[in-house]
Amino acid sequence: MKELFDKLYNKEESSFYNILSKNLKNNKKMFIVTANPETFMISEKDEEMKKLLLDKNTILVPDGIGIVKAARMINYDVKERITGIDIANKLLELGNIQKKSIYLFGSKQEVIDSMKEVLKEKYPNLELVGASNGYEKDKDKIFEKIAKVKPDIVLVALGIPLQEKLIYKHLNKFDKGIFVGVGGSFDVISGHKKRAPKIFIKLNLEWLYRILKEPKRLKRFYDSNVKFLFKVKKYK
Ligand code: UDP
Repeated sequence: MKELFDKLYNKEESSFYNILSKNLKNNKKMFIVTANPETFMISEKDEEMKKLLLDKNTILVPDGIGIVKAARMINYDVKERITGIDIANKLLELGNIQKKSIYLFGSKQEVIDSMKEVLKEKYPNLELVGASNGYEKDKDKIFEKIAKVKPDIVLVALGIPLQEKLIYKHLNKFDKGIFVGVGGSFDVISGHKKRAPKIFIKLNLEWLYRILKEPKRLKRFYDSNVKFLFKVKKYK
């Protein structure tokens, strides 16, 4: 797992957004994985996930506070969280400014419908070249469709590890595009779910808010975060 810490993006969020903006402008292909302890733990058991995370072209950013704290604990200089939802919002903003195109894939149909409204209202210069909910069985077919329209930005909201595996599997069909797996971000951006209040985010307690709102997340949290902590402690 240590080699994943070696790969973690370790500069400020703002410098990451500069790279994002430049790559978008220059049509440079980019695959971003926003990592939390669950991501690292999955890669321990799942070879496919490990391979895609370690690929030299995959950009790994620290999403969860668990990753930031763990990295610091074993003396990695990781600056701050860079979350999937913030990256999604930033890409909408940059795409609008640079007049780029986007494909939205994932989440429920009603969420996708609201996302279309949000784009129309807040990002009128961003061209929506397609949107598909995440509940079609044949998800490869949707990627074939995405490949045909060659979007500048592809946001995939299916949850980990499915979103990352799908992107990675089809990435070679594209010459350009910024690809990110954004988990539950559409639910929040569309207004169907609320993000944690600012104070929770500031105190690095967003994870707690999500568990309080959806107690079924507790098992997922325990399985990844607690075991992760014990693992990292061993490296110390
Ligand atoms: N989802 C989907 N298809 C599926 C399973 C999940 O489109 O087969 C969507 C779900 O509607 C939600 C997102 O994937 O919008 C996963 O969100 P979650 O909050 O679990 O992700 P996290 O942010 O915790 O990674």
